[in-house]
Amino acid sequence: MPYAVSTMEKRLDEQTIELASFIAGRALATVTEPRDGSDPVVKLASPDELEAEFDKLTSIALGPEGSVDNAVLQEAVDLVIDRSVHTQHPRFFNQNFAGADPIAVVGDWLGSSLNTTLATYEMSPVFTLMENAVVGRLAELLGYREANSGKGMSNGLREPGGIMCPGGSTANMMALQLARHRKRPDSIRTGTGGERLTVFTSASGHYSTAKAAAVLGLGTDAVIKVADNADGSIDVAALAQAVQSSAERGEVPFAVVATAGTTVAGAFDNIRAMASVAADNDLWLHVDACFGGAALFSQRTRNLLDGVELTDSFVWNPHKVMGLTQQCTMLAVAEPERLDACFSSKADYLFQPDKLNTELDSGDRTFLCARRVDALKLWLTWKARGETGFAARVDHAMDMADHVRTRIAESAGSMVQMVPGSYVNVVFLWLPEELRQGSPWDPAQLSEDQLNALHSVAPRIKARMQAEGTAMVGYQPTDGLNTFRLLFMNPVVTAADVDETLRLIDDYGRQEWSALMAER
Ligand SMILES: *Cc1c(COP(=O)(O)O)cnc(C)c1O
Repeated sequence: MPYAVSTMEKRLDEQTIELASFIAGRALATVTEPRDGSDPVVKLASPDELEAEFDKLTSIALGPEGSVDNAVLQEAVDLVIDRSVHTQHPRFFNQNFAGADPIAVVGDWLGSSLNTTLATYEMSPVFTLMENAVVGRLAELLGYREANSGKGMSNGLREPGGIMCPGGSTANMMALQLARHRKRPDSIRTGTGGERLTVFTSASGHYSTAKAAAVLGLGTDAVIKVADNADGSIDVAALAQAVQSSAERGEVPFAVVATAGTTVAGAFDNIRAMASVAADNDLWLHVDACFGGAALFSQRTRNLLDGVELTDSFVWNPHKVMGLTQQCTMLAVAEPERLDACFSSKADYLFQPDKLNTELDSGDRTFLCARRVDALKLWLTWKARGETGFAARVDHAMDMADHVRTRIAESAGSMVQMVPGSYVNVVFLWLPEELRQGSPWDPAQLSEDQLNALHSVAPRIKARMQAEGTAMVGYQPTDGLNTFRLLFMNPVVTAADVDETLRLIDDYGRQEWSALMAER
């Protein structure tokens, strides 16, 4: 439908309203209608099949022709929903986001509908206060600062405790820039010159540290990967050694990134021990808690973050375990005034010093210019659920993970847990009858042929699940062998859904193993 605005009545035409209302209704239904799991998680389609389906309505490709009728677009919207992956589904375990909170979903719409940017108080008066309230509360929970004033400003200096960022990768990059700025304040102007600055993280740390190092001009070689313990957490003695060796080579160690909740194993580095290495060597200690930050809210998991008050910065993605919509990321900084010192540009067309309330402008405390008002959906969800609600969400996820761990222990060798796991992830191997052993399971007892076959069975099981739409579970190599990862956060998942998923893996596993053997 072409634009048609009645200039006399100053209202949108009926067709626009009809289409917008239709899309809103469908979108709301995807997050509010009950799901018993009988519908497919995904209806798998190749790109050609998808294009053909859209061709029946309108081409997915765009061209110079005119506008498309509402009726066609309404059918297209239904096709979009039908053919998308249902991350709300009780058997969706593929990624570390699932079960978006409906409050966050529509909070996102509200933010979009007010379409502004979180850079100045002038343009975002309410959202500025909300952002300060959510990051202030995070800083308080971390022990970075005294109690929140309740007005969005957490201390008498009117300095918020951090800033929201578009995603954890951006936040990790900003944290490394803060770290470098503390070590070499002039580098903002001069660059790093000939010095070799080094940053340390564990072998299981997220790849965003290396990407940030590349973007910051440090180079990926500046990221020194430190060995993990068996549970996937950093070996702190090896860290201390690596820092010392780097200094002995004439490099300048400046930062260490602790991971709270590694992507695959869900391991938590020992933050308290790392803080002492950081203090001994004058390193900025950043915590990448994109995944594990939710542990702050539950008594059962809070101790995984022990020592966090001793760190310099902390990033959490509420869009993972807490079910906020993507993206939703907070960077808390123990000395938040460093954000101004590091990122300020003093653009005189935007942050006019003689403007009303300019001291509340957030735009000069971040790398970004325009920012989405993610604070709104987070504030709404935080208020609607309360921290007891947040804790309950984490506890439920922990219950489900414990349920899987119990099922594995009871499985008489058909499943083997590959890493201990203390969080919402469980990494395990499915085994055909002929390869089952007593405990502990020992891959050295298998021939290379058997190991190769075992390695290829997980992708085949996954492909069957996708093709039949029965469940979605991720897999990844663990010690060179493909293993499954179940991870929990969606509150609608029940023990029965977990059991059904394990049954599916076993069922498909037997069939695919037979097929594999027959192919040899
Ligand atoms: C998800 C994740 C990131 C990256 O966050 P994005 O928001 O996807 O950029 C970084 N570190 C860890 C540990 C993560 O789990």
